[in-house]
Amino acid sequence: MKLPEDFVFSQSSLQDYVDCPRRFQLRYLLRQRWPAPEVDDLLELERRMRRGDHFHHLVQQHLVGLPADLLLKRLQDADLRRWFTAYLTSGLDDLPPQRRPELTLTVPLGEYSLLAKFDLLALEPGGRACIVDWKTGRHLPRGEALAQRMQTIVYRYVLAAAGDSLNGGVPIPPEQIEMRYWYADHDGATRRLTYDRAQMQADEAHLLRLVKTIEAHDEFPLTPDEQRCRFCVYRSLCDRGVEAGAMTEWDDDFDPADGDFTLDLEQIAEIEF
Ligand code: SF4
Repeated sequence: MKLPEDFVFSQSSLQDYVDCPRRFQLRYLLRQRWPAPEVDDLLELERRMRRGDHFHHLVQQHLVGLPADLLLKRLQDADLRRWFTAYLTSGLDDLPPQRRPELTLTVPLGEYSLLAKFDLLALEPGGRACIVDWKTGRHLPRGEALAQRMQTIVYRYVLAAAGDSLNGGVPIPPEQIEMRYWYADHDGATRRLTYDRAQMQADEAHLLRLVKTIEAHDEFPLTPDEQRCRFCVYRSLCDRGVEAGAMTEWDDDFDPADGDFTLDLEQIAEIEF
């Protein structure tokens, strides 16, 4: 199966490929709508997604200049109030002065494109550049695990490759780039990952290798790790079980604003009712 010429890779699609080549094929090449719920408690899933989405929106409104007290006053949901208060207390600590929320950058990747959508890019002209990703899930991953995530690999690489467009035509040295994950449900705990030129070269080689591997597939194999199938919407298509995984065991380290996360709330409603 050929990739469309105008295919745009993202951290989500590459993470899907790394997790399960078949999922990548179903989601991005066949555009298969999801036939099964991811977890057993769809209402709770929807609540968490809407709350996460709302938090991202609040932060964006604050970053474009709406007063914090006005935003806080309107909040009824206790978790949202707690998250937003944590953000006001520490979310912007030690960040360079130029703030660009919801910024999308695209770079070439082989014959294709690679897109990254940052929650926030904080820049100091000629100095540091910090990519911030707001996380609202309950899971607090270790830094070593995050270093392997495609989000970390893609975001830092895209900024190093395309940062000149934001830096007066001068590339941003990888050593000046930091990827920072900020955890709302953990009182603003952070995970900070630095970067350097050797890592950038390794990431570029890794990304290009992934694309070549994807291009070479005649068939996209199912993951051998069947644990992944418990929380995958395609498990009935793959004959990997019919029961959804328990919401209580779900790794909710997702972010509705991360690129092309494809869970569709209208589809949840269709299944639920
Ligand atoms: S059910 Fe399993 S094998 Fe099928 S797409 Fe999902 S993760 Fe891959």
